[in-house]
Amino acid sequence: MNIYILMQLRLKQIQRQVLCYLIFMLPAFFILATGIMIKKFSPWLSQAILFFLGWLTWTFLEYIAHRFWMHNKSAQREKPALSNHQYHHTHPTELKVTNSHRCILLVTGILIIISAIYLHNYFILFAGFYLGFLSYTFMHVILHRKWAKILFPRLLQNHILHHCKFTNKCFGVTVTWWDKIFGTSAPRSYQISEKVISYYFGETLEKREEKIYEKLKISPQVYNN
Ligand SMILES: [Zn+2]
Ligand SMILES: [Zn+2]
Repeated sequence: MNIYILMQLRLKQIQRQVLCYLIFMLPAFFILATGIMIKKFSPWLSQAILFFLGWLTWTFLEYIAHRFWMHNKSAQREKPALSNHQYHHTHPTELKVTNSHRCILLVTGILIIISAIYLHNYFILFAGFYLGFLSYTFMHVILHRKWAKILFPRLLQNHILHHCKFTNKCFGVTVTWWDKIFGTSAPRSYQISEKVISYYFGETLEKREEKIYEKLKISPQVYNN
């Protein structure tokens, strides 16, 4: 890519990112100030507000990281975060985070929450942030399971659209409001085809045929003859 175009692209990305930070800071400072001010009158409500702020900060960072770091058009392809994410886009059923990783993260999360309750101070901000991160790791795997359609239909639709149709939109995984605020939502009227859904869930033509054989209770050989 031409160095001049690359520089322009980088500058635009930085400007957009800075604008997102500025927009986020407004409500974040308001929530932080509220949490600090009511500390004297209602310590537990103050802790709840700070916990919420920590979680909200994660949802924002999740959006920023996905949009600007994992889909950085001006970056080198070799960057690990970028290439890992590109791999996940081309292989939607494969996730690098394993169940043992998730177990470790979950136990760590429980310890952090217990510590935050015990300490009863600004550590609660980190506890909220970590809970957001934990929700993300679990939500992402859920959104690659078919039953997500029952529990989180809107989030699933958002993630399928991001994977298969609008890779420059729908960056939110646990929440979609940052996409709405920053104008990266998919067009409302867009309908996802069955073919796209099958690809997303890793259903190849062979797998679909196998299901038909199963339903018909015949072997593939009989069917092919
Ligand atoms: Zn992506
Ligand atoms: Zn995914």
